[in-house]
Amino acid sequence: MAKGAFKGGIHPHDRKAATADMPIAWAPVPEQLILPMSQHLGAPCVPTVEVGQHVVRGEIVGSVEAFISAPVHSPVDGLVKAIGPCLTAGGTRVTAVTIVPDAEQDLDAYRAVAADDSRGMVKAAGIVGMGGATFPTTVKLSPPADSPVNTVILNGCECEPFLTCDHRLMVESPERVVDGARKIAALVGASRVVICVEDNKPDAVEVLRSVAGDDVEVRSLPTRYPQGAEKQLIWSILEKEVPHGKLPAATGALVHNVATAVAIADAIDKGKPLTERVVTVTGAVARPGNYRVLLGTLVSDLLEYAGGTVGEVGRIIAGGPMTGPALASLDVPVAKGTSGIVVLAAEEAAPAVEDDQPCIRCGRCSEACPMFLQPYAIANHAARQDWNVADQYSPLDCIECGCCSYVCPTSRPLVQLIRLAKAAAMAKGVKL
Ligand code: SF4
Ligand code: SF4
Repeated sequence: MAKGAFKGGIHPHDRKAATADMPIAWAPVPEQLILPMSQHLGAPCVPTVEVGQHVVRGEIVGSVEAFISAPVHSPVDGLVKAIGPCLTAGGTRVTAVTIVPDAEQDLDAYRAVAADDSRGMVKAAGIVGMGGATFPTTVKLSPPADSPVNTVILNGCECEPFLTCDHRLMVESPERVVDGARKIAALVGASRVVICVEDNKPDAVEVLRSVAGDDVEVRSLPTRYPQGAEKQLIWSILEKEVPHGKLPAATGALVHNVATAVAIADAIDKGKPLTERVVTVTGAVARPGNYRVLLGTLVSDLLEYAGGTVGEVGRIIAGGPMTGPALASLDVPVAKGTSGIVVLAAEEAAPAVEDDQPCIRCGRCSEACPMFLQPYAIANHAARQDWNVADQYSPLDCIECGCCSYVCPTSRPLVQLIRLAKAAAMAKGVKL
């Protein structure tokens, strides 16, 4: 294994060419926005507005007093039309605030957040991990006292196939990315800042290096999925393993996504709340692109703006195809963690064989697993609901990257079975 290279991983075709050169463009203001009160890990927000109330862009519409949470703001000036349950991309039903935008909108204006310090500004702006993790950012900016952070790693790898939203952000706003990285380092007292980009994005590496000073390293890493996973990235840069059951901060590293870094810079400098994000819309659509989308825009509206789907659709995914959920409905809103809408054509979505077949013990899943697990063993015991034995193979260490399912020649639903084993282990109180 090459120095700094993580174990396992795969090389799927990156499928990024359709949107890699597409500049970020605003998607239109839709007829209504549906804002889930839970767009983050942690305590769901409680609506702070009433039906019939007029709100302005940037005004809080949902919040809760909890350390692990993030407030939700209105992305538009508009009228609260409804408060009630909505379906999310992940398939859950949560409370949501529906807003009908006013006819006239000035998207350059917003109600700025206010707080006593930078960390408070990030919390007030409702920022969460925008790479898909959706963990409230303020919590990550407050590492335990016994785990000081000395290295900030900015994740610009964007290792998921199809997605190019982070790529475009780095190419178009390199100063904001670097500024965000410096602000994170200042907040946690880190002396080293490394921005990581896979080597299939040389233009991003070049432009970032052109604006980064001596205090910010820009590293080009081999293109290999899941290069951008937190533990794999820490290994690639520091050659340190996150200890079993510990937070990444235990290695002295803190990892943030590049889009999150830009949101942090905007919150601290401009008081800007998180009300929109860049979403890659690609695959079997008429006009693939990178769109700046108001949070709460329905996937159906976004796809319509992208010209609609083309040909026979097999599956539509929120996020990247390796980890994103397949959508059961298009009437789900774009949320803080929605990095992409990927439309897979019928022939792409079809499994290699009609149905999954028994495991032939070829071992490919173990070779591909970047977490040193034996996916076939966890999955085979989970399939028999033999949870106690499945626990012995550490299912809670699985990062659900999907590498095992990708390489399995018999199309075993490995990740799905491992998720069942994880749920069973957590229900029993098994600790990492
Ligand atoms: S077992 Fe989990 S971590 Fe390992 S390859 Fe499969 S999904 Fe990834
Ligand atoms: S890759 Fe599939 S067939 Fe091969 S050992 Fe793993 S589960 Fe079994």
